[in-house]
Amino acid sequence: MAELGPEEGRALCEALEGPAPTSVRLHPQRPCRWSGAEAIPWSPAGRYLTERPSFTLDPAFHAGAYYVQEASSQFLAHVLAGEEVAGKRILDLCAAPGGKTTLYASLAGSDGLVVANEVNRQRAAVLADNVRKWGLGNVAVTVNEPAQIAVLEGWFDIVAVDAPCSGEGMFRKTPEARDEWSENNVKICAVRQAEILREAWKTLRPGGLLLYSTCTFNFTENEGVLRDFSVWAAGETEPAERIAVDPAWGVVCGAEGDFQTFRFYPHKVEGEGFFAAAVRKRAAGGERR
Ligand code: SAM
Repeated sequence: MAELGPEEGRALCEALEGPAPTSVRLHPQRPCRWSGAEAIPWSPAGRYLTERPSFTLDPAFHAGAYYVQEASSQFLAHVLAGEEVAGKRILDLCAAPGGKTTLYASLAGSDGLVVANEVNRQRAAVLADNVRKWGLGNVAVTVNEPAQIAVLEGWFDIVAVDAPCSGEGMFRKTPEARDEWSENNVKICAVRQAEILREAWKTLRPGGLLLYSTCTFNFTENEGVLRDFSVWAAGETEPAERIAVDPAWGVVCGAEGDFQTFRFYPHKVEGEGFFAAAVRKRAAGGERR
């Protein structure tokens, strides 16, 4: 709130009390009755729905014709729009329940591979179900600690860390997130995020792209984590190609060291709270400590 100032802080609080938009992302190959619905401007397969139907009663939902995914988090499709993704190896390190995994699978195509890892076994089962339903056959689900995955040193072209976070961006959609929030939890999350990011980095090939995202607004878990990471990665990062954003979208663009950053506030965008950042790994190594 202090980061926004009183007026914008008030606008954010008001938006958090309002209704959350409903959106889906269409399967690349299956027909869907919502293909003609209003498009999400930063996500070619994204559609806003005018109502929230009972998805579990819809056979097309169970057939994987679409994935129910909130609009802001679909922005990663735009971050990857200028990247050659088809045929690449992608690591989705914190993958359950699979919203972003199914997006990466759609982009990677039949010659690509997505390793969707989830540390929590129960959540991994849900992830595996969603991957099966999406049905593209280019996803391997694994259940590992990030440090175990890190043995695949330099193996991936794109590594995505959609980190566990304090969930401020979910205050509207998931009211329990408000009860679970505390300053101490923000600090605990930041420590965990830093650890995950370091392990993720090891798996990225030189020249590859790192995506970091959270569904929280605060500096500590976003720019703060990236700032510490950049010190640790000393000289191994470089800016990715500029990712252009239409000002009409309401996304707040910024930078933290070599990272381009994108922040989604519910009072500015039609979507939930979200933070995303992208950086490239230098082709020639730095002096990581
Ligand atoms: N990417 C998912 C999607 O789009 O559907 C959402 C991921 S959720 C924000 C973060 C995930 O990180 C959770 O599934 C959680 O179980 C997992 N997680 C929690 N602690 C972790 C840790 N120490 N290392 C790796 N993943 C962790």
